[in-house]
Amino acid sequence: MAVTTVEGIGSLKAGLHPVQNNDFTDTEYLACNGGTQCCRSEGGIHGMLENEKPKPLRFTGDDVTWLRPINLHQLFDIRKQFPNSKLVAGNTEVGVDTNLKKTRYPILVSLAHVTELNSIESCDVCVKIGASVTLSRIQNFLSNLMNELPDHKCKSLAVIVDMLHWFAGEQIRNVASIGGNIITGSPISDLNPIFMAAGCTLEVADTEGVRRLFPIANNFFTGYRTNAMELSETLISITVPYTNKSEHFKAFKQAHRRDDDISIVNAAFRVDLQDDVIQSCSMAFGGMAPTTKLASKTMNKIIGRTWDKSLLDDTTVLLADEMSLPPDAPGGMVEYRQSLVLSFFFKFYLSVRQHCSFPENTFVNVQSVDMSATHPFKRAGVRSTQMFQEVPEDQLSVDPVGRPMVHSSAYQQATGEAVYIDDMVPFQDELYMAIVFSQKAHAILKCVDATAALRMPGVYAFIDHNDVTGSNFFGELGQGDELFATVKVTCVGQYIGGIVADNKQIAQRAARMVRVEYQELEPIISIEDAIAKESYLQPIRTLGIGNVSDGFNNSDQIIKGEIKLGEQEHFYLETQSGLALPKREDNAMEIFSGCQDQKFIQARVSSVLGEQFHKITIRVKRLGGGFGGKETRSWNLSAALAVAAKRVGRPVRCMFDRDEDMSSTGTRHAFLGRYKVGFTNEGKIQALEIDMYSNCGNSQDLSIEVMDRAMFHVQNAYYIPNVTTRGYCCRTNIPSNTAFRGFGTPQALMMAENWISDIALVCGISQRKVREINLLQDGEATYYNQKVQDVYLMKRCWNECLNKSAYEMRQLQVKEFNRSNRWKKRGISIIPLSYGVGFHAKFMNQAGAFVIIYTDGSVLLTHGGVEMGQGLHTKMIQVASRTLGIASNRIYTSENSTNTVPNTSPTAGSVSSDLNGMAVKIACEKLYRRLEPYRKRELNKTWDDWVKAAYYDRVSLSATGFYKTPDIGYDWDTKSGDPFYYFSFGAAVSEVEIDCLTGDHVVLRTDIVMDVGDSINPAIDIGQIEGAFMQGYGLFTLEEHRWSPTGNLLTKGPGFYKIPGFTDIPVEFNVSLLDGVPNKKVVCSSKAIGEPPLFLAASVFYSIKDAIRCSRRNSGIEGIFRLDSPATAERIRMACADKFTEKISSATPGTFTPFFVRS
Ligand SMILES: Cc1cc2nc3c(=O)[nH]c(=O)nc-3n(C[C@H](O)[C@H](O)[C@H](O)COP(=O)(O)OP(=O)(O)OC[C@H]3O[C@@H](n4cnc5c(N)ncnc54)[C@H](O)[C@@H]3O)c2cc1C
Repeated sequence: MAVTTVEGIGSLKAGLHPVQNNDFTDTEYLACNGGTQCCRSEGGIHGMLENEKPKPLRFTGDDVTWLRPINLHQLFDIRKQFPNSKLVAGNTEVGVDTNLKKTRYPILVSLAHVTELNSIESCDVCVKIGASVTLSRIQNFLSNLMNELPDHKCKSLAVIVDMLHWFAGEQIRNVASIGGNIITGSPISDLNPIFMAAGCTLEVADTEGVRRLFPIANNFFTGYRTNAMELSETLISITVPYTNKSEHFKAFKQAHRRDDDISIVNAAFRVDLQDDVIQSCSMAFGGMAPTTKLASKTMNKIIGRTWDKSLLDDTTVLLADEMSLPPDAPGGMVEYRQSLVLSFFFKFYLSVRQHCSFPENTFVNVQSVDMSATHPFKRAGVRSTQMFQEVPEDQLSVDPVGRPMVHSSAYQQATGEAVYIDDMVPFQDELYMAIVFSQKAHAILKCVDATAALRMPGVYAFIDHNDVTGSNFFGELGQGDELFATVKVTCVGQYIGGIVADNKQIAQRAARMVRVEYQELEPIISIEDAIAKESYLQPIRTLGIGNVSDGFNNSDQIIKGEIKLGEQEHFYLETQSGLALPKREDNAMEIFSGCQDQKFIQARVSSVLGEQFHKITIRVKRLGGGFGGKETRSWNLSAALAVAAKRVGRPVRCMFDRDEDMSSTGTRHAFLGRYKVGFTNEGKIQALEIDMYSNCGNSQDLSIEVMDRAMFHVQNAYYIPNVTTRGYCCRTNIPSNTAFRGFGTPQALMMAENWISDIALVCGISQRKVREINLLQDGEATYYNQKVQDVYLMKRCWNECLNKSAYEMRQLQVKEFNRSNRWKKRGISIIPLSYGVGFHAKFMNQAGAFVIIYTDGSVLLTHGGVEMGQGLHTKMIQVASRTLGIASNRIYTSENSTNTVPNTSPTAGSVSSDLNGMAVKIACEKLYRRLEPYRKRELNKTWDDWVKAAYYDRVSLSATGFYKTPDIGYDWDTKSGDPFYYFSFGAAVSEVEIDCLTGDHVVLRTDIVMDVGDSINPAIDIGQIEGAFMQGYGLFTLEEHRWSPTGNLLTKGPGFYKIPGFTDIPVEFNVSLLDGVPNKKVVCSSKAIGEPPLFLAASVFYSIKDAIRCSRRNSGIEGIFRLDSPATAERIRMACADKFTEKISSATPGTFTPFFVRS
């Protein structure tokens, strides 16, 4: 069997496959639409399996033997010979064991091609499915069978097919087997509850071929992932009986993310009703115990009862009792999970109730609004529009500025030919380094012993702080970072040392053998912990205007509120990586680094090696995504590799596994805002006092700057005459948090919108109205005294967004929908954006470029910015093309390096096009001027001729460009100066529908209007807007880290940490760029785009909040309520308090140790 991914099906040399190009279908193309492998989505890989006739196989490796029998006879022989062998079918579960948990199985026996285990057949009463049959085959087989059988026989089959739709993704379903799911015995298996409720039977056989049958509901599962089978037995098949006419069957699943996610809780219900009286019934739940659990007591008690309202009331009480969880139950979210049990039963009750025969007068009326509980979300295919301004008719065809030019490395990325650090051909003698990470959040290092690791063949060295020839410390005294821990560790994931070995496998295995003894200290994990212990970094800043006391005195009403915003994982596709190449002379070192700031890495590597900057060259070709996570936090890996390379005198490489990356590199800062806001009865804000707390982790990194930026944005687009803000940077024992797209801004803007929504609730007016009356007007300034220029553009975005989205009409439709539906609610909201652009630290607002014209007329362009999928190089080529007056295909950017363009600023803060674009333009203008005499003299000649003529005339054909942003920089000592060069504006309207019983939601439509000045490249800019919005959507609704109380990250992989999937994209998604709004201050009259639109996803959050408000009103609850971000299914459900959540008791915080905490 061979697997070919999208990388292997075509290349630039051999020709692109249609899926990589744009002539496939309207939707399945990658490159021409800027498709890249470094976008932050889980798709993009296309699997193709080529079948061949199976033969028995045996492969033997260094430490594992893999056997593939093709019939039961061979299988039983193997199992007799190797009683401890591990069976593997699709490997989707075993693979997790070996890759993540590092379990080692010396003998693996593949069941995937055992003929008898692959049969699937139906008869008059049941379907019998072989244990190795894949889930995709089951889906197909059952779907076809259902077309042949009468409906009443197929109720359990229909439920299986429906559940499989929500089971993992297609790639997993194509290989995962039914037997693997059953035997794994996961408490959140999606199929086992259905099999138990359906009364399925398992057939198992021992190595002699002796078979026995197990009814799966009959104590087959004995404990967490254990079952009643003997070690020598193999699961052969499962039999699923058909249903009869009087049976009703339904299953439910609730996950963090609707698509491709494991369950939080799932359930399957079967009831046999004769004349509306229960003859038999079965209720099985996943996620409520160490195994799939039958609600046996409840089932027994309701036999013989009539399917009426009193049954609903009694059953929910019985289930609340039988399915109760202790407050410290594994998995956490105990109240939510318990409420899901009741919600699911209510849904089942209503769906069966529709089929009951007896009339119940009052029920009929209730039914129409209640029936919304049973409607599944229906999602049509995504509709979208992208609107942008065309270039003027008289623009030269060779001038690409303003045109949607294809991303310069889109083809390489779509074919897989784009070279990232891990794709670089190994150097001769190259070694690999695996980091030895701290496993404790806060501890004194008592002993670090690498003796056993060093004995392993293939291991060269153990590196730690003793090998650092320069400085092991970086940052402010007392607040900075150590490269390798010396006496104490302050977070899990901190570097203690590194093992250098022949290859990754050996290095990682040896790293696990390094013995570390800790003396544990109490850790601080959350912001609340840090506040209680006053654990703050210095300085604690304050900023303000006016007099808040007067402001509160002049207010009709004053409210106090709180909102907490969770952290966000960068989840770049290319994890942190680097390669250190020691030069043979002068102690020089070259580092291939996956970083956003080559100057910073150069400084850090120089510092740890004790060498001058000029000996250290940092080279960056491209990153597979950065999002801020590689601005500073790539320094430790590059520096550790440099120390190792110096010590062993050979090239050393490392690329983190996802779990290593997630548990060591930090995230977006979690924030807590505690505010007091005063306002008039009409909703006009008079005064704001706010304390902002951020969770910085174990070192300062960029946390002070992140807080500064947050403080600057706490008023978003609103005018507030009296403000006091205090910013507390909390020091905790989690990995140091760092830059992330928006750099504190989204958190601050979110707080502003939260008090807006509170004011709306208190004043009884719409959120839109409160926003509108408080919007900044022309001539008004921010509370740090910067005049907001061109504020009318924000008004234009606002008004156009209202119009394009038909807001007024849809708001009425939302109201009507909410009137007629009790358990589904809709919300709609509009959010404005005023985003300050520029580094508030003056020195950072500078950039350089170096442009070379070769004698063949081709141009090599280098500048200070890093390409990380955002299209920076493409835009810079467009600028150079316009300035030099040549076609863009004559211009190439190969990489950035500190020995071509030095002293760069990070590629961050959305300003890389602004800064580097001006530097490129200045360099190109110099060259243009040098060629001008030749152009004028020989008008009928070409660019190539002018270049040659200039060369023979001994004219320099290379030039540098340097740019510094004027009039920018904030001085915190004097609290004066403008932190931003200009403002970017935008507005978004989103409409959502929530399921009040489960907390699920769908974004029905989003409209965005964004001010990007004159777009240099509308395709890239709109891609940035859509991508930023979806990343913001993840931040505000979905993505959530969970920590053990002792500081271990529990969500260190895509299995637990969910970024948005394809079906989270709004069903209708419209993006427009404001037209005719050149920004004369910036290159090609453009504006920044990378970060600002991310916050517009808050429109989804506040629509959700609005929908929750309607649900609460139906339960008789009015007034303001707290909804923290992200608005996960759990938070939405629990905020929609109702008669079911009332039945769930909650334990008093502090009386138990929770399974997880949020930072
Ligand atoms: C990304 C991802 C998403 C997932 N999503 C879901 C989901 O949505 N819902 C869900 O329920 N699960 C999910 N899973 C879990 C997993 O995919 C399923 O449990 C799957 O059905 C396992 O099948 P497999 O063939 O890959 O099992 P394997 O990994 O091959 O084996 C799993 C276990 O079963 C044993 N085994 C396999 N066959 C037999 C047999 N015939 N006799 C005895 N023992 C046997 C193996 O020894 C092993 O212990 C997901 C997993 C991944 C990686």
